[in-house]
Amino acid sequence: MELFTVDGLPLIQKGDDIAAMICERTELEAHDCVVIASTIVAKAEGAMVLKSDVVPSDRAVKIAKRLGKEPELVQAVLDRSADVIVEFPLLLVENLNGHVSINAGIDDSNVEDDYFLELPHDPDASAKAIGEEIANICGRDVSVIITDTNGRAFKIGQTGVAVGVYHMYPIRNWRGEKDLFGKELEITEEAIADEVASAANLLMGEAAGGYPVVIVRGYEYHTTDDVTVKEMYRPENEDIIRKGLRCLRQSSD
Ligand code: GDP
Ligand code: MN
Ligand code: MN
Repeated sequence: MELFTVDGLPLIQKGDDIAAMICERTELEAHDCVVIASTIVAKAEGAMVLKSDVVPSDRAVKIAKRLGKEPELVQAVLDRSADVIVEFPLLLVENLNGHVSINAGIDDSNVEDDYFLELPHDPDASAKAIGEEIANICGRDVSVIITDTNGRAFKIGQTGVAVGVYHMYPIRNWRGEKDLFGKELEITEEAIADEVASAANLLMGEAAGGYPVVIVRGYEYHTTDDVTVKEMYRPENEDIIRKGLRCLRQSSD
């Protein structure tokens, strides 16, 4: 298995054709996985808000004050949130697409000063559109993962995670396979889309490197057309961490 960056991509502008830009710069092969930073997908789709256009609500002002953040940022986050899970000391939300992260993945890094960059609004659809266009342009069936860099509970340090997938089943189920001693595995589900995202994120970096696209070649994965990153989101009623956080919040209100 081999991972390499697509070099020479410019600063992405609204309307740019990411699939074409990738195909112009690299010889893709069938079954490659094309891993793309959500940052450039959001830029190409214009998923950004001008800071001066945001009018913070009373709630946003209150949360922002407690957090010591800009009220405009908090309002931009609330605008993309389906559920606010924690308000302090971090703003942890489920976004409108079901992804749980700090600040709904909104930030102002690697984008012009006056803007907040959102996550793509439907990253599975973005991944699919890019994957299908790559197949059209260069005749190769590839999978696509759109990533963001996220923090995790319990551990220090952020890693790449998948926020959208196309053509790759994001979970590998080991159930029924045998361990070294012949015992059948009962519940091992491997989040392969996150693992691939994380490996690719090693090459992307976080700063001015300019490597928003990484090709993963030679990884054997299960392809399927009908796929969504939402397979990876634990249903709320099975999520004890979320229940715990909710209890904490209620007791502090
Ligand atoms: P995120 O993880 O999706 O939030 O993206 P990051 O902001 O961490 O950026 C990941 C990589 O993409 C870094 O190497 C950035 O330098 C690069 N990057 C971000 N925006 C652009 C862009 O518009 N053009 C190019 N060529 N690289 C970019
Ligand atoms: Mn990000
Ligand atoms: Mn990043």
